[in-house]
Amino acid sequence: MPAQGGAVSQGLNGGCATCNTGGGSTEATPTPGRTGLVSAAPIAGPPKTWSTGLKKILAIRLDFPDLIDIRTSDAGQKMMDGVLRQKYHDSSYGKTDLQSTVTPVVYRLPHDAGYYATSNSIWTLIQNDATPLAAANYDLAAYDRIAFSFPSLKDVPGSTVRAMSHAQYGGKYMWLNGGGFGFYTVAHELGHTYGLRHANRWKVPDGNPVNSKGRSEEYADNFDIMGDTGDPTLRDFNPWFKSLLGWMDGHVQTVTVNGTYRVNRFDNTPAATGILALKIRKNNALDYWISYRLQLRGKSCYKGRSLYRLGTRRHHGNQ
Ligand SMILES: [Zn+2]
Ligand SMILES: [Zn+2]
Repeated sequence: MPAQGGAVSQGLNGGCATCNTGGGSTEATPTPGRTGLVSAAPIAGPPKTWSTGLKKILAIRLDFPDLIDIRTSDAGQKMMDGVLRQKYHDSSYGKTDLQSTVTPVVYRLPHDAGYYATSNSIWTLIQNDATPLAAANYDLAAYDRIAFSFPSLKDVPGSTVRAMSHAQYGGKYMWLNGGGFGFYTVAHELGHTYGLRHANRWKVPDGNPVNSKGRSEEYADNFDIMGDTGDPTLRDFNPWFKSLLGWMDGHVQTVTVNGTYRVNRFDNTPAATGILALKIRKNNALDYWISYRLQLRGKSCYKGRSLYRLGTRRHHGNQ
């Protein structure tokens, strides 16, 4: 039991330094939970077809007449085909895979950077202007995910961009502000398009990780790709999130009676087999999730290896 408390992954939507999610058609308004232990909107996972199988990604590189990008596509393509693909393949236990295309061409948007950066509809404006440019060379309908990548608009005078990047929850589109194709940024935003929200931490005043006096800190699960800080390549998606995506079939044991149960390390693909998470009903709305990981031992402020997690019980209707 980690002294610093458990981690709670849940569905609050909020701003943070690295990414600004929402705006997608599937975004839900967060509502406080009834128990007081976790304030989370129930998360309905996307249809399994959305979060499993091969996903073709087109990353459209863009720049502006007054803010040009002289970088090549090499680094981005290498990252997408390398560590990003490996992470999604391993984390999903082979349930999903990525096939990425980073456009060698940098398409020049028709307006200066300030036109987009100062608009409250920045993401839509970029999407609308970029789509016909890329459509000259690519059949956009043939891709499962579309990323718009462009030089950072954060420091443009009057910029409305407070965050690095942006993605739709369970949607097709993401926007990579800065265009650097860093592993963490792309892995995190892609996670949003798969349907995930931020991985939060239940911060408690004592050693009890499920203390009801705790509070949820959005984004503060630093074990998780949907959290923040830490070594991103060592992080994984948590088993609850994986279950929402249809990646945990056969790997979750629901516990209803006292006993001793064995749970295998889940961040050890391809060797991870058998039961990788225990799910324990807390009440009508919440489950505890218990899992075991190794990769971040001693590398994280948590120090502990086991982790309690509260997951809102998902609705099974659409999966
Ligand atoms: Zn995010
Ligand atoms: Zn964010």
